Amino acid sequence: MTEKGKLIVISGPSGAGKSTVVNRAIQGRDDMCFSTSVTTRAPRPGEVDGKDYFFIDEERFQEMVENGELLEHARYVAHSYGTPKAFVEKQMAAGFNVILDIEVQGARQVKERSPESVLIFILPPSMEELRRRLENRGTDSAEVIDARLRRAREELKEASIYDYIIVNDKLDEAAAEFAAILKAEHCRYAHRRHLLETF
Ligand code: ADP
Ligand code: 5GP
Repeated sequence: MTEKGKLIVISGPSGAGKSTVVNRAIQGRDDMCFSTSVTTRAPRPGEVDGKDYFFIDEERFQEMVENGELLEHARYVAHSYGTPKAFVEKQMAAGFNVILDIEVQGARQVKERSPESVLIFILPPSMEELRRRLENRGTDSAEVIDARLRRAREELKEASIYDYIIVNDKLDEAAAEFAAILKAEHCRYAHRRHLLETF
């Protein structure tokens, strides 16, 4: 791979199905990778340190912010989250498209820093379905689910900074839309103009 990879930002209300859609869409592809964020929240049952997140304390988080080790960072429902910069830069330089699953404040920072990044917002079919999915997932208390739903309503108001919206109603269709966006981005003039030089 010689071309520089793209930065793909995925946001959307917690429970909209971001991980589910992206995992389905990138199955069998060898040009994509996920960025693993750092967070100060506690691991959920089954989450693995270094895979789902790097779980760190607030002190280490602040140190990373001060050292400029994070590409972006934000507070979300009483915890800090951030994207380690070194990994993303290394993978992009090696030609991988790097997926960031981050919330809206972080997405805004990425767009300001790298305007060519691709921002995708994933919507659930409705707020009722979103609540059902969070309840069925069974990973959050009723209180946390309420906080996440309130935050979801705020995030929807900021969706105008995104390049694309995917509605995750039927999983196969949502995954196909994600794949179509990647394909379209790959065909952009800016991404392919170097090909003209070979003629
Ligand atoms: P997010 O990453 O946005 O927080 P998840 O991918 O964890 O969301 O999905 C939240 C829950 O909704 C999971 O239990 C998942 O299996 C379920 N889910 C995801 N997509 C769909 C879909 N299209 N239809 C029904 N349930 C879905
Ligand atoms: P969760 O606690 O459900 O794993 O994530 C909560 C929210 O934090 C989700 O919207 C997720 O996209 C976002 N998030 C996860 N990692 C990061 C990160 O590194 N930066 C930012 N800004 N948001 C993140």
